[in-house]
Amino acid sequence: TGHLLVIGAGQAGAQLVSSARELGWAGPITLVGHEPHAPYGRPPLSKAYLRGEVDAGGLALRSNAFYAEQRVELVVGDRVTHVDLAVGEAVAESGRRWTFDRLALATGAEPRRLDLEGSDLDGVVVLRDVADAAALTRRLSEVSDLVVIGGGFIGLEVAATAAATGVRATVVEAGQSLMNRVVSPDTAAVVEAEHRAAGIQVLTGTRPLRLHGDGAVRAVELEDGTELAADLVLVGIGARPRDDLARAAGLCCDGGVVVDELSLASDGRTVAVGDCANLPDPTPGAVPGRRLRLESVDNAIEQAKVAARTLTGDPRPYRSVPWFWSDQGALKLQTAGLAGADDDVVVRTGTRAGQHVALRYRGEQLVAVECVNAPADFLVVRKALATNRTLPRDVAADTGVSLKKLLR
Ligand code: FAD
Repeated sequence: TGHLLVIGAGQAGAQLVSSARELGWAGPITLVGHEPHAPYGRPPLSKAYLRGEVDAGGLALRSNAFYAEQRVELVVGDRVTHVDLAVGEAVAESGRRWTFDRLALATGAEPRRLDLEGSDLDGVVVLRDVADAAALTRRLSEVSDLVVIGGGFIGLEVAATAAATGVRATVVEAGQSLMNRVVSPDTAAVVEAEHRAAGIQVLTGTRPLRLHGDGAVRAVELEDGTELAADLVLVGIGARPRDDLARAAGLCCDGGVVVDELSLASDGRTVAVGDCANLPDPTPGAVPGRRLRLESVDNAIEQAKVAARTLTGDPRPYRSVPWFWSDQGALKLQTAGLAGADDDVVVRTGTRAGQHVALRYRGEQLVAVECVNAPADFLVVRKALATNRTLPRDVAADTGVSLKKLLR
């Protein structure tokens, strides 16, 4: 026990302070965040917030009273710039200093930027925080041609919202299918068809070469010579973990702060959680030695709980079936489990119109599921994955029998 300092006041940091208190951390807790806001949820930034259905105030994860009640000192608008692990001291941009007994890193990730001619033109934007979302909302109301670079879930969510408000939207994806780090080509094809039907132009297997403009962006030139008119370009090409602070402090980093299954970093004392952490695969059928980063609300919450247990002296290894959702216009995509490109795809045929369920297999073992507009099937399979149950493939493909019956 003693003073717990948590750096990064996002989804994972907020969960960590609340779980640590709940599990009996008795000493002072300080949560420091760079953004000028109390911890908030990012998922609505590319969905409800962008559609004007929720404002910044509605994004908060906890009320301000919560932090006071839990005796958590919340410091916002300040960035920790230096950490000395041997002495147990952290220094912030403002000059503030904290001594700590235990340190938690929950610094998240930041959008990768394009490194091309013209990528610093006005109107070339990214989306990570509420300030980005506010600027994007304003711009979307003024423009007519949006080009999204990167066919990942954030770009597709924004494209769907833009198209629904009458903006011409084009998505440019370098891979052969959309969201190829997350879903199978089969599921991507279902999503792509829906976006096309909604009027979005989807270009796969091509990438931007340079951006044209005169101060403000006017067009995106692709490698194949195509020139796309653009008065707004959203760059959605993934995120880079914010591990600089950890690296400078001497912690082992490798595309994220390297942690073990208890969320402990290489010094055996500091914990790291959420988007900034590089962790061992937590799934039941994990490939031995496989490490990864998980960028999702589910992981931020579950890994923070694991770290809180570690800090409060009741360590339990992280075991989980990670899950994720993305709302893209009328599509609700949900995934659970971690499939690799080598894992097989069994698509359940004959599902109800508009629904799609793809089961992923490693050998005979069910390892993941991808659902479009099929929340009931999703829940059933997610539960089965968590208890490491499986289904013969031929049975799985037959929609004559409900998954609920099969996996009961
Ligand atoms: P973050 O939420 O990024 O928080 C880290 C915080 O640490 C930031 O506020 C940062 O300013 C602060 N920080 C960093 N360095 C310092 C420092 N040195 N000093 C002080 N503060 C610091 N996930 C889903 O599961 N479903 C979704 O539908 C979904 N939609 C998303 C939509 C968008 C637009 C985005 C950006 C993300 C979405 N995600 C979604 C992902 C999810 O939001 C992230 O996985 C989650 O926020 C990770 O939480 P985190 O606490 O690790 O990092």
